[in-house]
Amino acid sequence: QFVIYLQPKYRIADNRLAGAEALVRWNHPEWGLQPPSEFIPLFEKNGFITRLDQYIWDGVCSILREWDDKGYPPISISVNVSRADIYNADLVDILIHTLKKYDVLPERLHLEITESAYTENPKQIIDTVSRLRKVGFIVEMDDFGSGYSSLNMLNELPIDILKLDMGFVQGDLSTNSNNILSFIISLAKWMDYAVVAEGIETEEQIQMLRNMDCNFVQGYYFAKPLPPEEFEKHLIE
Ligand code: C2E
Ligand code: CA
Ligand code: CA
Repeated sequence: QFVIYLQPKYRIADNRLAGAEALVRWNHPEWGLQPPSEFIPLFEKNGFITRLDQYIWDGVCSILREWDDKGYPPISISVNVSRADIYNADLVDILIHTLKKYDVLPERLHLEITESAYTENPKQIIDTVSRLRKVGFIVEMDDFGSGYSSLNMLNELPIDILKLDMGFVQGDLSTNSNNILSFIISLAKWMDYAVVAEGIETEEQIQMLRNMDCNFVQGYYFAKPLPPEEFEKHLIE
């Protein structure tokens, strides 16, 4: 009953499709298609989230294999990694096993880890993320700026990509929050992180982010999360 939806991500410089984020949906026989907000918090509490996440990673690798076999351009797909996964001692092995099963290279799978997981147990997460990066995974810090991450912590974190919290682009675009956004993007670039902005709904937001030299964008303005067959049409285009 669990299905993968894919939301396209675009390179802002030339508006080209650059990848996707996998977002789970629960296609319940009686209740219909359920959004993650309805069940993820529960699954995080009862521990089912680790199995669900592994199921999604497996599905994503299977999709990548299928597309490679069809000769499509080798885009990457981001998957969400719950904080519970980080505490799983077998995480790295499970991910490597899944890649091997479908003969997919690790850099094709981006791992999105929410900012709050970093602040909860920095030592454990730095250790796990370092191991993941060593074997070739690309690590993205999701929801950056939503919690308490100090700018100072950025320095110690082994990550590749900063994914800004949606609140940065969706709030009122007053000069002050604009300045903060612009500063964070500059800082990230200075530290050699690529920057992704999500929740893009208007042309105005894109223009602003382009001026700030943001790298990638994702949002309803371009496309909602789509069933893989629908996403495939974008890829072919
Ligand atoms: P997230 O990782 O921050 O994902 C972004 C959410 O924003 C998605 O909601 C997406 O559909 C939505 N979104 C995308 N573009 C726009 C936009 O332009 N405007 C607005 N208002 N929203 C936009 P979704 O799919 O409901 O997922 C919610 C959260 O559930 C995700 O937030 C993520 O934390 C979690 N989640 C989703 N799939 C998985 C999964 O497979 N595993 C885990 N552990 N968590 C997941
Ligand atoms: Ca995410
Ligand atoms: Ca996010």
